[in-house]
Amino acid sequence: MRDVIIVGGGPAGLNAALILGRCRRDVLLCDAGTPRNAVAARTWGVFTRDGTPPFEMRARAQADLARYGTVERREIAVTEARRDGTGFAVTLADGTVETTRKLILATGLHQALPSVDGFETYWGHGVHACPYCDGYENRDRALVVYAHGAAAKGMALELTVWSRDVTLCTDAHPTTLSAHDRARLERQGVAVIETAIRRLEGDGRQPDRIVFADGTERPCHAVFLMPMPCDPSELITQLGCDLTRKGVVPTGEYETTNVPGLFVAGDASRRVQFAVVAAAEGAMAAFAANTELLREDVA
Ligand SMILES: Cc1cc2nc3c(=O)[nH]c(=O)nc-3n(C[C@H](O)[C@H](O)[C@H](O)COP(=O)(O)OP(=O)(O)OC[C@H]3O[C@@H](n4cnc5c(N)ncnc54)[C@H](O)[C@@H]3O)c2cc1C
Repeated sequence: MRDVIIVGGGPAGLNAALILGRCRRDVLLCDAGTPRNAVAARTWGVFTRDGTPPFEMRARAQADLARYGTVERREIAVTEARRDGTGFAVTLADGTVETTRKLILATGLHQALPSVDGFETYWGHGVHACPYCDGYENRDRALVVYAHGAAAKGMALELTVWSRDVTLCTDAHPTTLSAHDRARLERQGVAVIETAIRRLEGDGRQPDRIVFADGTERPCHAVFLMPMPCDPSELITQLGCDLTRKGVVPTGEYETTNVPGLFVAGDASRRVQFAVVAAAEGAMAAFAANTELLREDVA
């Protein structure tokens, strides 16, 4: 039986493995190799690594792990996880079953893009999820906020931090904008367009305009999407983890969950979705897992 199995080798899983390797724990890290930010050319806002390509960051972290002989890293998906006595049993894609005392899920998150023609084409280089990650590189350009419902006003106002040329597009979805909200958006120079979007157009590398169903167009250098609900990993649902309405795990301090011995770190848990936060959550989960193992061993 392993001390800890970590599922997911992004910033959260890799940093968890690093801390646990330094605690000399017997760790298996399984990663399917499909990181959420694979489409992005660079990762911004990471201490000492600002602007590093995501795969370079992973390769560096993997090289760091090679120093720790008790950490085994496998490029393989985990297909099933269940409780097994006081620990867990996980099934890998090749049919192998591994058992562990503690389990850290760092599986990231999976969000579908709104079905607008062109969004898929420009995803990661013109269509973005997070202004903290990509707002600065698009500063002072024509920005479109794709948002509706209760998220619309806040998201549109947030983008004015990066540009004074912001258009809120609801794509004909209902919004909850009151007359007061509309006045506030207008005061901040945010245009509101509630017509359906036909497509996002550009030269294939960068969008330059958004075309509406009525044939009108608007300049658009980048689109920022409202947070979309996400599909939790099957492992999270198999283990009976609580979920928020947004489909992430409402972890406690140190990334604990409602399932004893199970930790969820990174984008799969509820906090802001930055690489450096995911890495920090991985470290906290590792700290907590190591502490629980120690307590059990000395009891
Ligand atoms: C387009 C885009 C650009 C971004 N840009 C930035 C940025 O500039 N700066 C920033 O701080 N953040 C950025 N982010 C957010 C950042 O990528 C995430 O916060 C971070 O990657 C989360 O790390 P994670 O370890 O939780 O998940 P991920 O990095 O998504 O890694 C999860 C890993 O788990 C693996 N996995 C999932 N299920 C299984 C399974 N069943 N078995 C085995 N492995 C599994 C996946 O294959 C994947 O490798 C960006 C996100 C996107 C989508």
